[in-house]
Amino acid sequence: MRVCRVSVEDELAYGVVEGDAVALLAGHPFGEFAPDGRVLRLADVRLVAPVLPSKVIAVGRNYADHARELGNTVPGEPMVFLKPSTAVIGPGEPIALPWQSEQVEHEAELAVVIGRLCRDVPEERVAEVVFGYTCANDVTARDLQKTDGQWGRAKGFDTFCPLGPWIQTELDVDEAAITCSVNGQVRQSGSGAEMVRTVAELVSWISSVMTLLPGDVILTGTPAGVGRIVAGDEVSVAIDGIGTLTNPVVDRE
Ligand code: ZN
Repeated sequence: MRVCRVSVEDELAYGVVEGDAVALLAGHPFGEFAPDGRVLRLADVRLVAPVLPSKVIAVGRNYADHARELGNTVPGEPMVFLKPSTAVIGPGEPIALPWQSEQVEHEAELAVVIGRLCRDVPEERVAEVVFGYTCANDVTARDLQKTDGQWGRAKGFDTFCPLGPWIQTELDVDEAAITCSVNGQVRQSGSGAEMVRTVAELVSWISSVMTLLPGDVILTGTPAGVGRIVAGDEVSVAIDGIGTLTNPVVDRE
């Protein structure tokens, strides 16, 4: 099932994508819901970020080839950081480049969407708390990441967390090819199978640190090939089995 959030006539609603149609839902996809009878053409709705997380937890250096390209080693334990919920934008919304950075880069990532309040989840029960998966771009001001030490600013600017286009509730992560294209040229190409730590390991480990709430999002790291984006670019994160998340890049006003 592909669960989207759409803006229809000034109303925000959840829906289920089937082919080129969207069946709108009454209720909430994390709880009780049912089709409300309205079916719209996908082309006629504006998709917004499929989830509003209380927090976005991101994992650094979870692909060995990406760790290497930045001169880093894979850490002995997962390396996590937070992106503010206010960084989240949806498909088609512009990534705004802040004046403070000269080197803003794309990072294509598989995002895990949590469906239930949970903590201390054993690996074998992680499937029970995962609602689904979506595409993410962990936009990063690489220069500030290096000079700041802390990553809060480099990863936390408004618009630095595009999510979408929708949440796929069934996905074989090991079979999920992940690519990032800029203006149609492929820059990153990887697979969920290359993750150093699996989704089950990451969710279990993170939930031993902090309580996860429904809608929280975990970014699972990026494959090699990160690079700069500039105003006028169009950047797309595509994941097999989910879809494509595309955002234009503009200078922040
Ligand atoms: Zn990342």
